[in-house]
Amino acid sequence: MRNDKAECQCCKKMMVPRVVMERSIYVDGVQVGGEKPLKSICPFCLSEEWNGMPRKSGLARLRRDAILGLRAISLELTIIGGIALFFAVMAIYRFVFVGFN
Ligand SMILES: [Zn+2]
Repeated sequence: MRNDKAECQCCKKMMVPRVVMERSIYVDGVQVGGEKPLKSICPFCLSEEWNGMPRKSGLARLRRDAILGLRAISLELTIIGGIALFFAVMAIYRFVFVGFN
């Protein structure tokens, strides 16, 4: 086993940083994202700045937020698209079974 314990700069405990993996989503059956380490955090205080590294620049943070936001929007569009398709199919069924009787 590799000894990769480090002292957290926030709570001063010896710990092994926990890697947080990027969540993946499915858009039309295609996996988007995931399997990528997003960040590592202290398991005790859950701080991203456990190694005392300066915060990411605002631009990088903004860019990451924008990417995550776009992914959330595309997920919502998939759900809305699915609901719209459901109602469209229901409308067609109504037309076929009610419209001709
Ligand atoms: Zn900590």
